[in-house]
Amino acid sequence: MARRTKVVGIAGRYGPRYGSTLRKKVRDILEKRYAPHVCPFCAAKGTVYRISTGIWACRKCGAKWAGGAYVPRTELSKYFPKIIIREE
Ligand SMILES: [Zn+2]
Repeated sequence: MARRTKVVGIAGRYGPRYGSTLRKKVRDILEKRYAPHVCPFCAAKGTVYRISTGIWACRKCGAKWAGGAYVPRTELSKYFPKIIIREE
């Protein structure tokens, strides 16, 4: 597929709307959101997907946890890893 945007990448879905500065910001967030994340429970890569804002799940081990709105682990939860506890 031909490359359609030079600058905004994934935010090219918004076409010419909202201004380039906002689209660049959205690009940064969307790229983090869709990047292959590592599951904090089974350490599998690329199996983590977002159910809704702040709710993440892993296709491989079935774990479901509360994370950041756009990333499964926020900077804060790296300091408090025990808050995320496996549901069993
Ligand atoms: Zn997993």
